[in-house]
Amino acid sequence: MKQPLFALLLVAAAPAPDPAALRATIAKLVGFGTRHTLSTTTDPARGIGASRRWVAGRFAEIGRGCGNCLAVETIGTRAAGPRAPAGVRVEDVIAVQKGVGDPDRVVIVQGHIDSRVNDVMDASTDAPGANDDASGVALVIEAARILSAQKFPATIVYAVLSGEEQGLWGGQLLADTAKTRGWKVAAVLNNDIVGNTHGIGGEHVDTAVRVFSEGIEAAADLPAIKQSRAIGGEDDSPSRALAKAIVRIADADKRIGLDVIAVRRPDRFQRGGDHIPFLEAGYPAVRFTEATEDYDRQHQTVRTENGRQYGDTIAFVDFPYLAKVTALNVATLRQLATAPAAPTGVSIAGAVSDDTHVVWASVPGARGYRVRWRRADGFAWTDYRDVPASVTALDLPHVNIDDHFFGVSAIGAGRAESLVTFAGVPPRPAPGSSK
Ligand SMILES: [Zn+2]
Repeated sequence: MKQPLFALLLVAAAPAPDPAALRATIAKLVGFGTRHTLSTTTDPARGIGASRRWVAGRFAEIGRGCGNCLAVETIGTRAAGPRAPAGVRVEDVIAVQKGVGDPDRVVIVQGHIDSRVNDVMDASTDAPGANDDASGVALVIEAARILSAQKFPATIVYAVLSGEEQGLWGGQLLADTAKTRGWKVAAVLNNDIVGNTHGIGGEHVDTAVRVFSEGIEAAADLPAIKQSRAIGGEDDSPSRALAKAIVRIADADKRIGLDVIAVRRPDRFQRGGDHIPFLEAGYPAVRFTEATEDYDRQHQTVRTENGRQYGDTIAFVDFPYLAKVTALNVATLRQLATAPAAPTGVSIAGAVSDDTHVVWASVPGARGYRVRWRRADGFAWTDYRDVPASVTALDLPHVNIDDHFFGVSAIGAGRAESLVTFAGVPPRPAPGSSK
């Protein structure tokens, strides 16, 4: 299988994530004592309010370094639930780097700033949350620092969310905001628990990261699910296509130093994160989480019991590893913010013949298309053919439709590739149409 060189070239152009900068951000966030969603919002030095204001200031500072290329906003809503019976104002801090070609198309990178201890209602005890999820917040800020040095056709949104531990409220707020503002969300990269490399079982893994994606789409209705089932489309949802793109990006640049474990479920078993509201809204979203977790360092009050240390403190964050996960996010954001939109109307025909005919709708701004296929028992796309932008149909002789899956992506500047749209059945001709 050929590995496209463009990914290497794109990554080579970028400054690398800086472990010291990541450490400084996490140390600052831990210094607010607790960042519990129900903690103080008025204290200047402690609690979630002060920490959010610090993030907004950090985004503003980065924005000044790029000629005010970042619009920094705090968006908010009132939320209530079992974990906030009296209700609470939930606020997300976002920095918007407006695209210069197709600004309605948006890629989002996010982490959550709120933290907790054992008692999810305890808003006053120190809750450092160094890994869960100051690591994700540090990654988002570092991505902004690196990517704001360049201009991209699509808009990049750097998002620091609240209310995750109380009910995924910050993720819901941003997904709702995307809908309200009419963003065409091309990808959501949710980073939650991305800085630890020592698992609770004693294993040490600093060369892999897990990327969780959905197969059957939360946003699909029953007819759409049945249609997908009928053609074997359950491994090629937009979320899964995003995970596969991340695998290819990591494989194309070995200097990032990460294997992607593309877990084929939306999150860890029976758990959730801030990508879930985006999946429910029909946007392609994935979750990044370290390859091996230590549950003594999550949601635990800092303490030592029988010689065993508990708590999510900065001592257990592996900064070179967090820098690698940041590099993979940056490479993915760069590619998807450069690429055109993913094609629509991708369909195949060729039953009871030896050839497959692929057609798709043209994409504004595309410089070409890549038709991909793989054997129908495999996960990753193995074969492709590139065609110029003038072409929107391709015959693949001797590639049997029954034994293969097909998809099409759009190619932009620097050979940046969109997500691959899975090929389905052709739409029925409109009544009265001559074809
Ligand atoms: Zn978390």
